[in-house]
Amino acid sequence: MESAIISEIPVKKSNIQLVGPVILLGAPGAGKGTQAKRISERYGIPQISTGDLLRENISRGTALGMEARSRMERGELVPDELVCKMVADRLAQQDCTRGFILDGFPRTVKQAEWLDKHLAGNHIFEREKGSNAPVVIQFAVEYNQLLQRLTGRRTCPTCGRIYNVHTQPPLTEGVCDIDASALVTRKDDRDDVILERLRTYELQTLPLVNYYRQRNRLREVDGGGAVDRITAETFKAIEDGDRL
Ligand code: AMP
Repeated sequence: MESAIISEIPVKKSNIQLVGPVILLGAPGAGKGTQAKRISERYGIPQISTGDLLRENISRGTALGMEARSRMERGELVPDELVCKMVADRLAQQDCTRGFILDGFPRTVKQAEWLDKHLAGNHIFEREKGSNAPVVIQFAVEYNQLLQRLTGRRTCPTCGRIYNVHTQPPLTEGVCDIDASALVTRKDDRDDVILERLRTYELQTLPLVNYYRQRNRLREVDGGGAVDRITAETFKAIEDGDRL
């Protein structure tokens, strides 16, 4: 297991105008949410976390939330059609025109195929139709480290900042450093559900690595260890892309 890794290097803003779609792939606990927040800060584009959108639907008691709830509590995936429709609605919003970060989507080959068609057929950004190829970043993290991250994860319900009781604890136990809210453990971060989520990932999401590799879009980043090194490599992968 790794020792404490705390990042306090502030994210430097970039003046790149058009970023396009960025897809973050990786197992639950691979650090997609943490890196998505940093990408969002650097490039000024929104983080679209399908897990967060679904949790919002559950707390608002929508039909989608009711449909998704039991599957999420068991660590299973929500059906593709429901998630794709939710993503289509989100991408149609104005703040996506310079680009966006997909965190937790796609999670199946069907979702990836849907997304390719959707991006090719839409003027989502100030970019020509058909030239919306995403940068896909895969965070590879060793299994024991994933377990440590998932069992120790605590989230601030107010600002969304993610902590880890083992590796990135808050200054005061159980309290957010930024806004003093009481930190919460996600319902699906319980041990039995964690194992199911990791199994679901291996079966349904891991094939996406090959899907994007075969299309020459995959950038692999070692997602273990120091957060700042991972962030630096992630920014490089985005800026080295031939789309900017
Ligand atoms: P996350 O916050 O990304 O770990 O997602 C939490 C849960 O939401 C997952 O375990 C799934 O049940 C559901 N979920 C999130 N994104 C998707 C997706 N793209 N497709 C299907 N289910 C999803």
